[in-house]
Amino acid sequence: MERAQGQLEAEMQSLEEEKNRVIEEAFIRAESEMKAVHENLAGVRMNLLTLQPALRTLTCDYNCLKRQVQDFPYMLEKAITEAKQEVKVSSANQELLRKYKREMNLRKKCHNELVRLKGNIRVLCRVRPVCAGETDAADTKNKVTFDPDDDAVLYLSNKGKLMTFELDKVFPTQATQEEVFQEVQSLVTSCIDGFNVCIFAYGQTGSGKTYTMEGVPEDPGINQRALRLLFSEVSEKKPDWDYKITVSMVEIYNETLRNLLGDNPSEKLDIKMCPDGSGQLYVPGLTEFTVESVEDINKVFDLGHMNRATACTNLNEHSSRSHALLIVTVAGFNSSTGHRTSGKLNLVDLAGSERITKSGAEGSRLREAQCINKSLSALGDVINALRSKHSHVPFRNSRLTYLLQDSLSGDSKTLMMVQVSPLESNVSESVCSLKFAQRVRSVEIGPSSSSRRQAESSSTSSSPTHDGVEVQRYSLLSNMK
Ligand code: ADP
Ligand code: MG
Repeated sequence: MERAQGQLEAEMQSLEEEKNRVIEEAFIRAESEMKAVHENLAGVRMNLLTLQPALRTLTCDYNCLKRQVQDFPYMLEKAITEAKQEVKVSSANQELLRKYKREMNLRKKCHNELVRLKGNIRVLCRVRPVCAGETDAADTKNKVTFDPDDDAVLYLSNKGKLMTFELDKVFPTQATQEEVFQEVQSLVTSCIDGFNVCIFAYGQTGSGKTYTMEGVPEDPGINQRALRLLFSEVSEKKPDWDYKITVSMVEIYNETLRNLLGDNPSEKLDIKMCPDGSGQLYVPGLTEFTVESVEDINKVFDLGHMNRATACTNLNEHSSRSHALLIVTVAGFNSSTGHRTSGKLNLVDLAGSERITKSGAEGSRLREAQCINKSLSALGDVINALRSKHSHVPFRNSRLTYLLQDSLSGDSKTLMMVQVSPLESNVSESVCSLKFAQRVRSVEIGPSSSSRRQAESSSTSSSPTHDGVEVQRYSLLSNMK
């Protein structure tokens, strides 16, 4: 029993030790686990701290989005109304554009109607002032007077008799270049619409033809003003219309054509019929320059003058015995409609219309006089034939009328500026010029206008004659008045 008890006690003792060991191990394990948990907890705490601001910004973003979503329908509505308004404005714009185009068309029609009412051939008269240096001659007394109430009438005292001439308009001596141009500018612009136009300066040497057409540098005449106007008119029509303006300069001397802008101004030019059967004429080899600015036209004019001067000994004399033509072509293209137009503006400074005294003229001087006489009477004949609706119009009787054929016939418009000198020594020439004016005045061009204007009285339709002039009214009963 004692031995058993001892064994038991020993066994209990070892069990007790075993128990204590296990407990200690469990304790240590628990302690380390506890530590790990603590560390985790600290990490989680840390995370929580950093998450908080993130959460704050998220909340903020969320709130912001929420607000935006709330605002969205309102914003959308606003955008839609704005867009609708824009659509309305652009359709209003289109309406305006349509109206604008209609107005432009109407304007063009009115303009054409105005030109038509004024007649396809208009004859104007310009009396130049007495120049300095002329006053001390026997010419002091002014032979030309005007009607204060009627700007279409001019009186000329000739050998003690008072002659009355009636034209479409008379420019008195004080009329400015600008005033003269205002009267012709509607013709100039009509060539943008595709019409052919001729403007002639007719009169004896020294009556102011070149002054009216070319003018002086400080006060330019019709030529330069016309091109300036064309430039500004075509630039207004951009971008719908694209225009090209070209110029040529030609001189007709002794019935030969000279190219004033070419490299060889003494070369003679020919007039040919276009081979396409259109009946249009053209001048092979004629130089054309495209012009876009006033500088361009001045360069072209200078070249033309230089070439005109090089071939003669005395430019003043030579220019009074030849016709100078400035030919302006205006070609337009409308890129949106595909329309094309082409108009020609012929600005002609004619040779002096004075008659040569038969005794003094011989040789080359006589030939010059014959050529001038021939072409000026051909011009009168052509206009007369057109007026009388003759089936045959003698365009071919002179180079001048042949060259201008397509600008004198059909729908063309012609303006004759008859220049008159106020001096007593020039009165008989002034009478001739004014009679020529009466002869061409109120001539109709084109078939559509047969009854608009009536022919002048028969007393003035005969060819100009200086002798036996009575005091009579060279009136033209125009039914447009
Ligand atoms: P034409 O060319 O007919 O021979 P011009 O034009 O050369 O005549 O004119 C002769 C002179 O008269 C020139 O000196 C010119 O400057 C002057 N003259 C002509 N018309 C006017 C005018 N309206 N105002 C001032 N001077 C003029
Ligand atoms: Mg001249």
